[in-house]
Amino acid sequence: MVTIKSPREIELLRIAGNVVYQTHQYIKPFIKPGITTKELDKLCEDFIRSKGCTPSFKGCEGFPNAVCMSVNDCIVHGYPSDYKLKEGDIITLDIGACYKGYHGDSGWTYAVGNISDDDKFLMEHTEKALYEGIKEAVAGNRVGDIGYAVEKYALEHNLGVVKEFVGHGVGTEVHEDPSVPNYGKKGTGLRLKEGMVIAIEPMLTFGSEEIEIDDNGLTAYTYDGSNAAHYEHTIAITNGEPIILTGEMNNG
Ligand code: MG
Ligand code: MG
Repeated sequence: MVTIKSPREIELLRIAGNVVYQTHQYIKPFIKPGITTKELDKLCEDFIRSKGCTPSFKGCEGFPNAVCMSVNDCIVHGYPSDYKLKEGDIITLDIGACYKGYHGDSGWTYAVGNISDDDKFLMEHTEKALYEGIKEAVAGNRVGDIGYAVEKYALEHNLGVVKEFVGHGVGTEVHEDPSVPNYGKKGTGLRLKEGMVIAIEPMLTFGSEEIEIDDNGLTAYTYDGSNAAHYEHTIAITNGEPIILTGEMNNG
């Protein structure tokens, strides 16, 4: 069921989204060669809890940790582990925080030290694809307009579009209706209305868009071993510009 959020609910979603934004800013300087993904996870969890929130993904579909840590060819749902980051890795931290029952959700890919030009290209254009999608997220447009814009931008840059994972509504559940795919046809799908809150989250690959799921049933890798990037914001639909609840503009 797609819900329209009241101004009071949007305010709670703003607070949750802001804590997610702050957690990304807090953890960024720690993302260096030598730190383990488990250590990063613990730092994020402690920070989220210090802000009066709980980590949205802990226990979500059996995920054991606070933050998804997806390194290199891992697309999403990587489990924090004893793996030590090394120079040249790229890592996506997908962070969710819940404040008084309302969630914020934002994933971001980071470079570990110096990375290859290919990875720079992949990251730059996956982030830009996210903003192409956000531009279309205005009342009166349809969900297909977002997917169309993301896919078009990705294909123009010869990047693979992962189809198995999609954006989603955000509210009292971290994953709600509607689904917001990173592909689609202009003018099709659900019509966007003021008060809807959705996460837009392109996952693009440097190679094939085929995926492989780990034995844990959750963690996804690219089938061909090429690297993947993932950028995500939770946004509120308005009749004008969307409000990026997990972004810098909501930092205050
Ligand atoms: Mg996420
Ligand atoms: Mg999400």
